[in-house]
Amino acid sequence: MVDGLGLVPDGVIAAAGGRIVYAGPAAGFSGTAADDIDLDGRWVTPGLIDCHTHLVHAGDRAAEFEARLAGASYAEIAAAGGGIVSTVRATRAASEAELLSASLPRLDRLLAEGVTTVEVKSGYGLAIDAECRQLRVARRLAQHRGVRVVTTFLGAHAFPPDLDRAAYVDLVVGPMLDAVVAEGLADAVDAFCETIGFTLEETARLFDAARRHRLPVKLHAEQLSDLGGSRLAAAHQALSVDHVEYTDPAIAPLLAAAGTVAVLLPGAFYCLRETQAPPIQAFRAAGVRLAIASDCNPGSSPITSLLLPMNMAATLFRLTVDEILLGVTRHAAHALGLGHEIGTLEVGKACDLAIWQVDRLAELVYRIGDNRLLSRVFAGEPAP
Ligand SMILES: [Zn+2]
Repeated sequence: MVDGLGLVPDGVIAAAGGRIVYAGPAAGFSGTAADDIDLDGRWVTPGLIDCHTHLVHAGDRAAEFEARLAGASYAEIAAAGGGIVSTVRATRAASEAELLSASLPRLDRLLAEGVTTVEVKSGYGLAIDAECRQLRVARRLAQHRGVRVVTTFLGAHAFPPDLDRAAYVDLVVGPMLDAVVAEGLADAVDAFCETIGFTLEETARLFDAARRHRLPVKLHAEQLSDLGGSRLAAAHQALSVDHVEYTDPAIAPLLAAAGTVAVLLPGAFYCLRETQAPPIQAFRAAGVRLAIASDCNPGSSPITSLLLPMNMAATLFRLTVDEILLGVTRHAAHALGLGHEIGTLEVGKACDLAIWQVDRLAELVYRIGDNRLLSRVFAGEPAP
């Protein structure tokens, strides 16, 4: 790929066996095809990649949202059984079939915007069986739709109401991770490193356990405060650090050297009415790859859209259009360890495409609530 987005004005993409065999100027293409589709000058991008979601869960927090607007405090909501505990309760009570049918409509909204790869985290089970059930359902999503699903074990998301802290950490880094690995349910391991989540030391224990299982790590880091999570993540060559509003700008060169992607989640920033933006200039100067994701979750980012966070990344964080388009394609692929497989239109990669009815790609970022997707292609096949 050339500088920037590598735009090709009059291009051809050819695929065989689900993989790209040619992508470039029409003038340079000499092959013949069994199926030939004329896109009439429309823009084609790599299928979009939502590299951070909590898509598989049961229940919602609409009543809590309403109560908070009516003046209820966090303490009152927690006392009434609200907050993350309410999502844990609903998710534990749901069968695999119920979780699947609750999650498919959310997935469909992402696919309708040109998403062809989605990452899905556990973290609302907080017990061995319920965490495994969430990840099993995440894997099953790919059997029902034309989409690639990448799963992440996030047992270290919160503390369950029924175990003390030390016992839960022992469970997560030991038997729970072992069970997830034994069933092949996770592609990566994640934690919520925060004053209201897991400490740096607890996160380090989990990362060491992940390394023993040869699983890559990623981290919810510096969303509300700076505990040093990004530094730890870089030391473990993490795939990504996510949120990063409070990341020390001095850490940026470490992230760049480690190949760790900074995943920006402007939907959560918006919903929580945060005011401190991530250190974008420091990331740019150091050459840190930036990605953007929906963070689809029932508490802090009830967003089943990737186009909307793309607009938010421009408006709230002042990313450029090129940075944003790379952030949901090439760089999002790296955040999932799939930079060799998806994210660009190159020979050998999966033929995952999004076809857009726009005159300029900037419209994908500029328009709000106006989805210009014409169609998707997943693994070389038209996908609804
Ligand atoms: Zn998250």
